[in-house]
Amino acid sequence: MYDFSYHKPSSVADAVKLLAADPDAKAISGGHTLLPALKHRLNKPTSLVDLSGIAEMKGIKREGNAIIIGALTRHVEVANSDVVKGAIPALAYLASHIGDNQVRNRGTIGGSVSNNDPAADYPSAVLGLGATIHTSKRKIAADDFFLGMFTTAMEADEILVAVEFPIPEKAGYAKMKNPASRYVMAGAFIAKTASGVRVAINGAGPCVFRQTAMEAALAGNWSAAAIAGIKQDADGLNSDIHGSAEYRAHLVGVMAKRALAAAG
Ligand SMILES: Cc1cc2nc3c(=O)[nH]c(=O)nc-3n(C[C@H](O)[C@H](O)[C@H](O)COP(=O)(O)OP(=O)(O)OC[C@H]3O[C@@H](n4cnc5c(N)ncnc54)[C@H](O)[C@@H]3O)c2cc1C
Repeated sequence: MYDFSYHKPSSVADAVKLLAADPDAKAISGGHTLLPALKHRLNKPTSLVDLSGIAEMKGIKREGNAIIIGALTRHVEVANSDVVKGAIPALAYLASHIGDNQVRNRGTIGGSVSNNDPAADYPSAVLGLGATIHTSKRKIAADDFFLGMFTTAMEADEILVAVEFPIPEKAGYAKMKNPASRYVMAGAFIAKTASGVRVAINGAGPCVFRQTAMEAALAGNWSAAAIAGIKQDADGLNSDIHGSAEYRAHLVGVMAKRALAAAG
């Protein structure tokens, strides 16, 4: 690990000031992605801005037809929340299957969504439910937020403050997990929302994406039969020691059918 200075602000405004003052500063929340990178010297920030003391970034609340989850909310809190379980059980299920107990007790929704790891779970729920990201500067629709591998629409001095999930009529999530890390090999989050059917695929490609052929088919016929003949193109999908692009393309179809069954 390289040397860095450490700051622990107590407001979003102060955290933004610290990040804006130093182009090589980095925010840290649960640290479950950033700390291993620092330990392996893969990242070299001059200062760390620890967000964990910012009260306005914590908590889960229902507002009208949406659930708003503060960025510092840990995976275990989403998994165990009666508010989330009551309104969007698929989201609580997703959170309960992230990593292991240690990861769920430290990792945060804000850290996961900001990091936009292609193999992370939350981006599929954010895109699949058509969520809105609240940052220190603005609100960003999920469709405009995830730009590519480990890349989002946020700027270096912008902080993710909360995620607003509209409550769907139905939703389901399924993933094929890496047996060691539980990271996603391929997953599908399917939701029937007030604005239509949304199908988000994670793990399979360099960035979470919408499977529009499945969305169109399910809009007309909400059944496994409607998507049975839809084949995911393997072009551009991830290929690594864990699985080929063709294997992941196959998994997309299987996970979509399981997510649909889970949605009911
Ligand atoms: C062994 C292991 C297994 C895991 N398995 C899974 C899994 O199955 N599924 C899964 O989805 N994830 C998995 N993870 C990742 C885990 O969910 C992380 O907690 C998560 O990716 C990052 O959250 P964090 O709060 O730890 O972020 P941090 O490590 O603190 O930060 C991650 C990145 O996001 C930035 N950041 C953090 N918070 C904010 C914010 N509020 N605004 C702007 N930028 C911010 C940081 O600067 C950093 O670049 C695993 C991790 C480990 C170590």
